[in-house]
Amino acid sequence: MADDTEFDLFVIGAGSGGVRAARLAAQQGAKVAVVETGKLGGTCVNVGCIPKKLYSYAAHYAEAFEEAHGFGWPVQAPAFDWERLKANRAIEISRLNEVYEAVLVGARVTMLRGRARLISGHEVDVDGQRFRARHLLVATGGHPVTLEVPGGELAVSSDAMFDLPRFPARLVVIGGGYIACEMASIFRGLGAQVTQLVRGDRLLRGFDDEVAGFLAVEMGKKGVDIRLGTRLQRLDRDGGRLLATLHDGHRLEADVVLCATGRRANTRGLGLDDAGVALGDRGEILVDEDYRTSAPSVFAVGDVTDRVQLTPVALAEAMVVVDRLFGTGERRLDYDFIPSAVFTHPNLATVGWTEAEARERFGAVRTFVSQFRSLKHTLSGSTERTLLKLVVADASDRVVGLHMVGAEAGEMVQGFAVAMRAGATKAVFDSTIGIHPTAAEEFVTMREPVVQKQPIHR
Ligand code: FAD
Repeated sequence: MADDTEFDLFVIGAGSGGVRAARLAAQQGAKVAVVETGKLGGTCVNVGCIPKKLYSYAAHYAEAFEEAHGFGWPVQAPAFDWERLKANRAIEISRLNEVYEAVLVGARVTMLRGRARLISGHEVDVDGQRFRARHLLVATGGHPVTLEVPGGELAVSSDAMFDLPRFPARLVVIGGGYIACEMASIFRGLGAQVTQLVRGDRLLRGFDDEVAGFLAVEMGKKGVDIRLGTRLQRLDRDGGRLLATLHDGHRLEADVVLCATGRRANTRGLGLDDAGVALGDRGEILVDEDYRTSAPSVFAVGDVTDRVQLTPVALAEAMVVVDRLFGTGERRLDYDFIPSAVFTHPNLATVGWTEAEARERFGAVRTFVSQFRSLKHTLSGSTERTLLKLVVADASDRVVGLHMVGAEAGEMVQGFAVAMRAGATKAVFDSTIGIHPTAAEEFVTMREPVVQKQPIHR
C-alpha cells in the first residue's frame, strides 16, 4: 500500500480533541493523519464556546450602556447591529480555522477533507479512499437533538443561532440546560423578548439546587421569561411567525424557536459495528480509562464518549491517549474538581460537588453562603445580586464545592479550582487574605456556616 495511506495514528474529527491528539502525536514523532468533514476546530470554535462567548460579550454592552449613567456617563444606547456582529464573528472564526490549519501543517500532520467511516479496527474509508493505521482515534463530537413534537422541524438548534438571517425580536428557547440558559441570556441581552420553556421544575439539572435557583431569579430580573414545568406540544408556522402551543393550550408567538434539549454522540454511519466498537444506550462510544474502545486499536475521546462535554476535558483526554500510545503511558485524567462556567447573565461557575452530592459522598457538610449587591451596582442602578457558596466536608474540613453566580464567575472560579485540587481546607481559606474590594474576597471571609438543613434527598 502506498506510503501516504499508512499511518501510526489516524484521527477522525478535527475538533478540540482530534486536533490536540493529532498535533501532540506528530510532535512525538508519530505519522499522523486527521480527517474532517466540516470546519477545522469543531464545535467549540465554530458553533460553541468561542462564538457563544463573543456574543455574550456583545450582550453585556446593553447593560453597560444603562449602568454607565450612574457613573456620570449619560450615554444613550446606540442601535444594535446584528449584521455587524455576525460579520465580525465570522472573520474571527475564519482566523481561528486558519490557526488550526497552521498548527496541524506545522506539526506535519496529513490533513484530509471528507467523511470518514471505519472499515475495520485498522482501516478507514474517506469518501472512497482507503487508509490504514496502527491506531484509530474517534473524536467526532456530538450534535444537537431535534424537537420531538409535531412541527419540531421548524425549530432551530444552537448551531443556527450564530448566523440567523434576521435578529429575532421574539425568541422561544426550549430547554433548561446550560446551552439553553446561555442562549436565553445572550439574546435577551441583545434585545430579544425571550421566553424559556423548561419541562422540569428547575434550571441546570446537575448544578447545585440553591445556585441554580438563584440564577433563575437573576435571569428573570433581566427579563428572561422562564416558565418551569412547561412542555411544548406543537409548533406551527403562521405566515412569517411561529406559533408554539404549550401543554396547557396556551400559545406563544415567536420569530425563532430554539431547541436546546441536549446533544447526542456522532456515531451514526461511522462503521463502528464493522470495527467491533461497542456503543452505550445513548449511542455514545464506550471506553476504558485509557479511552480504548472494545476494539483494541480504536480509541475515542471527547463528546463522542458522552462523559463530560467540555473542551478542556476533550483536550485532556486526547493528551492521555497520545501519552498512552506514544509517550510514557503514565498520564491519567482525574474527573474530580473539573471547573466549569455557564455564561448566562450573570455568569455562573462551579467546581467540585453540589451540596446534595457532597452530603451523599462525605456525610456531614457545612455550607457557607453569601449573597450581596456588588460594589459596582451601588452606583450602576442594577439590582443584580451575587451569590457565593462553599461546601465543606466536616470530617476533613476540605472545601469540596465552590459555586458562584456573579460577574466574571468563570474567571474567579478557575483560580479557586487550583486550590481545591490541592486539597485546600476551610482553615486554609480562612487564613488567606482577601483582595479588597472585590467580590471574590467573600470566598475567604465567610465565617458563619448556614444553619444545618435536613439532608437533601434527590
Ligand atoms: P468537536 O469539537 O465537536 O469535534 C468533532 C469534529 O468531528 C467536528 O468538527 C465534526 O465535523 C467532525 N466529524 C464528525 N463526524 C465525522 C466524520 N465521520 N468524518 C470526519 N469528521 C467528522 N465547552 C466548554 O468547555 N466551554 C463552553 O463554554 C462551551 N460552550 C458550548 C456552547 C455550545 C453552544 C456548544 C454546542 C458546546 C459548547 N461546549 C463548551 C462544548 C464543547 O464545544 C465540546 O465539548 C467540544 O467541542 C468537544 O470536542 P470534541 O473534540 O469531542 O468534538
